[in-house]
Amino acid sequence: MRKNVLVFRELPDDQLARLQAAHQVTVANPRVAEQRDAFFAALPAAQGLIGSSFSIDESVLAQAPWLEVVSSISVGVDNYDLQAFRQRGIVLTHTPGVLTETTADTIFALVMASSRRIVALANLVREGRWTSNIDTSLFGWDVHGKTLGIVGFGRIGQAVARRAALGFGMPVLYSNPRAVELPELIGRMSHVSLDTLLPRADIVVSTVPLTDSTRGMMNAQRFASMKRGAIFVNGSRGAVVDETALLAALDSGQLRAAGLDVFAVEPLPLDSPLRIHPHVTALPHIGSATHETRYAMAELATSNLLQALAGQRPTCTVANHAAGSIKILGDSDRLR
Ligand code: NAP
Repeated sequence: MRKNVLVFRELPDDQLARLQAAHQVTVANPRVAEQRDAFFAALPAAQGLIGSSFSIDESVLAQAPWLEVVSSISVGVDNYDLQAFRQRGIVLTHTPGVLTETTADTIFALVMASSRRIVALANLVREGRWTSNIDTSLFGWDVHGKTLGIVGFGRIGQAVARRAALGFGMPVLYSNPRAVELPELIGRMSHVSLDTLLPRADIVVSTVPLTDSTRGMMNAQRFASMKRGAIFVNGSRGAVVDETALLAALDSGQLRAAGLDVFAVEPLPLDSPLRIHPHVTALPHIGSATHETRYAMAELATSNLLQALAGQRPTCTVANHAAGSIKILGDSDRLR
């Protein structure tokens, strides 16, 4: 039976065609001013939604009485009111696995850029200020051999650990609710508490999901407990960090530098001090933004939606929608 599908973020043409072959499809992105009315006009009849980067809370769900499934083109599900989904019996699917390596690449690029001051030094060349050998004030800091602390040791955290330990000879400390066994990293990584990790790591990377328990987790007290002159990299969600506390830690010299792909408010407001801070390397939330990976995400999200609308079990369902305790179906249900 053809159902009503509302696409709220652009899809590759061939994936859109897969949906159109089976269902009645409306494309309207509520974040684009000219399309917002069309999105809310289509919502009351929608049975399936697919997209990302838009908050779907109780007020949106209340306008969609026929909704069966929302297919998110993301792994993070912090944009969705999980409790409201659960109460209304709406299936939520996402795209774990296919973006892991690309996001780990981005995070490692931020580690390198922050430590070696890549952006500032590249700008020096670009702006014609390379007129003599650089002096020590522009030197960077080694990455290889430094201790890396990873907060949240899931798919992406583990992929970052492999790069660090096997490629850069970095001892890895990780904090995570449970210990993880990775045969290739035996002897190179340790499961520790966050309180142990922060004072011991030279570089701290956040790869935790945003939940009630991680919101604001990197606060003034935690930055103060880090090694003086350490580097902080956030590749997860902006709201995991108290940005005012981060700025204070950078300004005081407690932190040497920060590499940030994500922010509490996105796009980053023009008046945010983080945008132009000399010790911040800021990226526009591009963790998974390569042609190959964004295509793979769209393809998986399209399959998830088609499966759910056909009454089949989607490849990647977010199960147990209790806010703050998101559990994903087992490994066999994930596309790797
Ligand atoms: P994942 O496999 O679920 O890994 C998250 C890990 O964090 C899990 O091991 C989880 O443990 C752990 N965790 C949860 N709460 C914690 C806490 N308070 N302290 C320490 N660890 C905690 O997810 P993933 O695929 O690696 O993705 C992680 C996050 O990265 C996503 O949720 C998303 O927000 C973000 N992300 C960002 C980008 C980007 O563009 N920058 C791209 C992709 C993903 P349990 O499983 O035991 O709860």
